Amino acid sequence: MKIQVVENVLSANEQIALENRRLFDEKGVFVLNFMAAPGAGKTSLIERTIEALRHRLRISVIDGDVASTIDADRIARLGIPAVQINTGGACHLDANMVRSALSKVSLDETDLLFVENVGNLICPTGFALGEHLKVMIASTPEGDDKPYKYPGMFSVVDVLALNKVDLLPLLEFRMDYFRRGVEALNPDVAFFPLSCKTGKGVDEWVEWLVAARSKLG
Ligand code: MG
Ligand code: ZN
Repeated sequence: MKIQVVENVLSANEQIALENRRLFDEKGVFVLNFMAAPGAGKTSLIERTIEALRHRLRISVIDGDVASTIDADRIARLGIPAVQINTGGACHLDANMVRSALSKVSLDETDLLFVENVGNLICPTGFALGEHLKVMIASTPEGDDKPYKYPGMFSVVDVLALNKVDLLPLLEFRMDYFRRGVEALNPDVAFFPLSCKTGKGVDEWVEWLVAARSKLG
């Protein structure tokens, strides 16, 4: 009996992610998936990026959390359209949740869509959403050993922001150790040490993002 081997069968999530991506490309929307541990500064970096770019590009945000509308409320306070997804316990967003939220996003009036994933360093990487770029935010209080302990996320992201560099004088954070860990996993990652509190390093990230958008868009 001949055994049929079916290759390249996309998972249901990957299929929906591709459909999302096709829609984003058709509408000219550049989409970023922000991932991080809880408290690293996903919402803060989104806020800083909005402040820097809101007069140049039209921005919308989808916020994923297990519960509450705290993050979407923060974004809405800036006058930016924000949709909250409550996952009801799930520890990551998936492509279908994003697709459902898209009915509340005016893609025709959006140049940049920021999707803030659920705070979690592990499984969000396993679920494509249709994004153009995966952005990870690490933060100095989490420690310099995180690339060694959570290699999965550090390996797959396009961008790594290291937030809270203003706290470095208070911490025993070995930057060279951290960077060696990242380098071994993901030598091509775009790396931005920054502080959402002081604004240091944010401009470099923002200009890189604008250039990345024009390259891919
Ligand atoms: Mg947040
Ligand atoms: Zn999960």
